[in-house]
Formats: sequence, C-alpha cells, structure tokens
Amino acid sequence: PENAPVRQWTVHVEVRLQPRATARFETIRARVSDFVRGFDRINLSSTLEGWEDVPELASSVERILVSESSCASHSLHISEMSLQIHVYQPADTDSYEEFTNSTGTRQDDDETMAATVCELPNRGMEGLWNSLIYADDIKMKLLDYIHATLVFSDANVDFNLVSWNRVVLLHGPPGTGKTSLCRALAQKLSIRLSHRYSQARLLEINSHSLFSKWFSESGKLVQRLFSSITELVEEEDAFLVVLIDEVESLTAARAWSDGRNRAPSDGLRVVNALLTQLDKLKHRKNVLIMSTSNLVKAIGTAFVDRADIVQYVDLPSREAIYEILRTCLCEIIARGIVSPISVPTLKQAQMYELSALHSPDHLVATSSQVDSREKSKNVALRLLALAAQCRTQGMSGRALRRLPVLALARYIGIGPLNLPSNATPTVNGTRKVVNTG
Ligand code: ADP
Repeated sequence: PENAPVRQWTVHVEVRLQPRATARFETIRARVSDFVRGFDRINLSSTLEGWEDVPELASSVERILVSESSCASHSLHISEMSLQIHVYQPADTDSYEEFTNSTGTRQDDDETMAATVCELPNRGMEGLWNSLIYADDIKMKLLDYIHATLVFSDANVDFNLVSWNRVVLLHGPPGTGKTSLCRALAQKLSIRLSHRYSQARLLEINSHSLFSKWFSESGKLVQRLFSSITELVEEEDAFLVVLIDEVESLTAARAWSDGRNRAPSDGLRVVNALLTQLDKLKHRKNVLIMSTSNLVKAIGTAFVDRADIVQYVDLPSREAIYEILRTCLCEIIARGIVSPISVPTLKQAQMYELSALHSPDHLVATSSQVDSREKSKNVALRLLALAAQCRTQGMSGRALRRLPVLALARYIGIGPLNLPSNATPTVNGTRKVVNTG
C-alpha cells in the first residue's frame, strides 16, 4: 500500500576530523546531517565527496565514510536510512603506555612487555577495518554481537537468568587477520560508541610474556595487570577492549605445572587467577575481551567455555583473495609504482569470467591497441587465475599482502623498468613505473 511506512536501515556515518580541528563535535554532526540529507541516494560502504564546499566542514573534516549495513543492496534512498552520525578525532599513533614486570621497570635483558594500552580511536588503526576481507561476514557478525550485549545491558536483564561473558575468541591458521580484526573492532567500537563513552582504550596483553617468560612472577603479574584493568574499567564513561593474543600460551602455563622441577600448583594458579579475574569483568558494561589463538585445541575448555562467540577464521577463499590482491594492486597504482589501469571489482570480474567461458581467447595478452575495457577484462581474468592459484597453495592474508613486494623484487632484477611519460618524479629522482600491460 502507498501509505505503508518505508523500511529503514541503520546506516553509520563516520566523520573523521583533522588532527588540529577545534570545531565542536555537535556543530559538525549537525552540518554533516544537513549535508547527507541533501543527497537523494547514497552508496553504502563509500566515502562521501562534496563536503569541501561547506566552509565549516572544509576547515575541520578529513573524511566522511558511509558504513556497510545489514541491508543487501548497494545503495539506499535517503528515506530508507536511519542515520547515525559519529564524529571523531583519532589520537596520535604513539599514544602507548606499557605495563611491565613487578618492579615497574622493563627488565634489562628482556624487551617484551606484559601489556600495552592505547587510546582509541587511534590514527594508526584507521583503514584496518576496511582492509580486512572475509568471505562470510565475520565483521558484521561481531558488531551485531556487541549490539546485542548493549541491548541486554541497557534493559538491565537479570544476569542469573540470561548471562554472557563479554569474551570473544577468534581462532584459525596464523596470518588470517585475527589480531588485526580484534584491533579493528576495538577501533570501530570506539567510534560507534562515542555517544555513550567519552573515552575508549585498547589494552593488549602479551600472553606469551605473561605466561612463559616471567613464569615465576606470572601470578603476581596477572594480579597487577588486572588491578590496572579494574582501575580502567571503574571509569564508567570509558570503554575498554582487552585483547589477549595467542591465548594458547595459557596451556604452556598448565604444562609447566606438570614439569618435575616446579611446584605442580604454580601453572594452575596462574591460569585460575586469570579465569577468576575474567569472570569478575563480565558484570561490567564497559568492557569487551577479545582473544585469539592459532591452536584452539591447545587452549583447554576452561577458557573456551567462557567465550560467547568462538569464531573460526579461515584462510581466504578465492573471492576474498581476489579482493585482497585487488586492493594491493590499486594501492601500488595510486602510489605511481604501476601504470594506471582499471582493476575491476570482484563482481565485475566474475561477470567477465562468465563471458570468457564462451570465448576463451580473452586470456591472450593485451597489445597496446586493445581498448581499455579489454585491458581491464584481462586484468580481471589474470587476477582471478592468480587468486585460484594462491587458494590452492593455501596462502594466508599476511602472505598475500607481501606478494607485491616479492613480485616487484623479481621484476627489478630483470632489467630497466618501463617509464611511461606520466611517471611522477620523487625527491631523489624519477620513480620507476611498471607497465601493467
Ligand atoms: P593473525 O593474528 O591471524 O596471525 P594478523 O592479524 O597478524 O593475523 O594478520 C597480519 C596481516 O595480514 C594483517 O594486518 C593484514 O594486512 C593481512 N591479512 C590477514 N588476513 C587478511 C584478510 N582476511 N583480509 C585482508 N588482509 C588480511
């Protein structure tokens, strides 16, 4: 019916301010709201342009990002959007503090730290969220989980009847982006929850040094660490994400307790201290514990049982690999290392692939006369073939992101590079540009 209400989707608009901008967040939020409402339709997961023409925005804003949404379509009419505008000014990358051993100083012969704390949102983590690509929508799933816990917390649901632990465990092969995803999620939350929490922090616990290096001190260290965590959590308008990386080091502590030379209770005591402390945190609304493991079987049920979400993070699929390689290629084109060529999105590439099935000679190398559409089709098909090869070899995201460096290293060795006339000169000479043809 004509008068049926329009279905609205929550769309987050993230407005990043310039480092020295002094404008009031409220003012910027209002201006951005007016600006966005001037559009008819907006693409999801895109960067908005045109705000530079609004003087108040031009002098303060650095970027306006429209987030993804759970709605399947690529763009939405403004009437279908329920806008949530978040204004933020990220802290400098080096705003780190350290927690060290019990003397409060770093040990001379040991550079590792038990934990670091950084202010969020942090400039160093900008772009991390978008750079992580997964075939199944792990990122949205995690955001939805946080949203669900907030709804329950706000409703003061009785913990004796419905309970959750605020613990998430990501596990899977090394290099699949687990640690990065935890950091990216912490950054995302600090932006999305800025209307509730005036501050946000990420505390990263280095499990390895906590449980193995200073094992004799681990018990005390855990206590000290958690008393610092409790202090941070007591600030009720500050949100805290605790990241416990490589949580399987817990097992090392347990195994140690089985050793002949140690008191058998040592290892267990440390593990139990940690679990007890984690249990205490579940009653705090402003904390989230993220943990990662390369070896879930080694963790032991005591920890795994505490996780509300146990998410397997797999090696990237062929499609995810295509996207990772595409973003690599786009970046080196943008930096002038490779001559410009349009690199099709995954969807376009899959359409080219379908059409190529009917006329397979499209894989033939391009000549300079071939038009740009044919060229980008060729790029798509080659990149898809490369992605399939990487998939067969079971390459991780980390391995894929270093492929361009290795590829260029090989190319440099062969001889002089082709220098198109549009090569941008660098400070100390002319930048080498590889011709993608
Ligand atoms: P893990 O904790 O699983 O060992 P990391 O978080 O250390 O993995 O990942 C290292 C880097 O590898 C990431 O910062 C990212 O650049 C890249 N990477 C890994 N997985 C992905 C992915 N799925 N999509 C994009 N990049 C990825």
